[in-house]
Amino acid sequence: MTARRIDGAALSVRIRDEVAQRAAALIAGGTTPGLAVVLVGDNPASQVYVRNKVAACEKAGLHSVMEQYPASLTEAELLTRIQALNNDPAIHGILVQLPLPAHMDAHKVIETIAADKDVDGFHVSNAGLLMTGQPLFRPCTPYGVMKMLEAEGVVTRGAEAVIVGASNIVGKPMAMLLLAAGATITICNSKTRDLAAQTRRADILVVATGKPGMITGDMIKPGATVIDVGINRGADGKLCGDVDYASAAEVAGAITPVPGGVGPMTIAMLLVNTIEAAERAAI
Ligand code: NDP
Repeated sequence: MTARRIDGAALSVRIRDEVAQRAAALIAGGTTPGLAVVLVGDNPASQVYVRNKVAACEKAGLHSVMEQYPASLTEAELLTRIQALNNDPAIHGILVQLPLPAHMDAHKVIETIAADKDVDGFHVSNAGLLMTGQPLFRPCTPYGVMKMLEAEGVVTRGAEAVIVGASNIVGKPMAMLLLAAGATITICNSKTRDLAAQTRRADILVVATGKPGMITGDMIKPGATVIDVGINRGADGKLCGDVDYASAAEVAGAITPVPGGVGPMTIAMLLVNTIEAAERAAI
């Protein structure tokens, strides 16, 4: 079997076009949707992510502000800046790019973002709303995965979903969204005994570990849908996922590539969250 390739890049273009139409309608009604992206320090990967997010915003007609600060910025200075953005009516979404420099408490920084502008969905009150089935903002990466599953017609109700990775930004919210969609959930972490025994049960397998190629074809149930969230830089300098695409594609029914799978969807869903925030503010 050779798996169907799930084209996240193509789907993200369709979603971004819809965002552009919603942005145009908001602008016609007098509200220009605005996103502030805050970057502290000079992490090269973060700089690329932030540039891509700002460029996507501008292409869809959203107003975007990029605030870049040196790693020497104090936590107090960053919190003051976030409070100013919280109070700025032209800004509907605030994103602080992670990771932050070691001298900053990322939890405290995220908790300072107004929950109704927290377009990443990482604020503890947004995590709680997601957990209790009333999400305000769904974290962008798992939200993008759900959109891909929906577009591919993957049945989630009653499906066995196994998530490898349990971070606050991917694995845990992924589990909540799949649970809400009727799947039976298993979340694995680095201490899981016999990982392959878990992954081989999965109708839907989502992998987000940051360990290049750790999931191989022999760990996958024939016909499964495999979503590779990982973004890693291989020894050859090329981007690769957490799934060994070549062997996995021999067994899976459908699989996302890296690049061109989850990554572009994450940015598209950030735009969706920003539009939703602006639409709520415009009511
Ligand atoms: P974290 O490092 O925060 O979490 C990794 C998780 O994977 C942890 O729960 C860890 O377990 C688990 N893990 C690590 N090794 C193993 C293993 N051998 N077996 C089972 N579980 C394991 O990573 P993130 O969630 O932030 O990111 C994961 C990957 O996704 C990275 O490659 C990142 O670059 C990528 N990413 C991609 C995005 C996109 O837009 N496509 C967005 C966000 C992230 P434990 O809890 O025990 O430590």
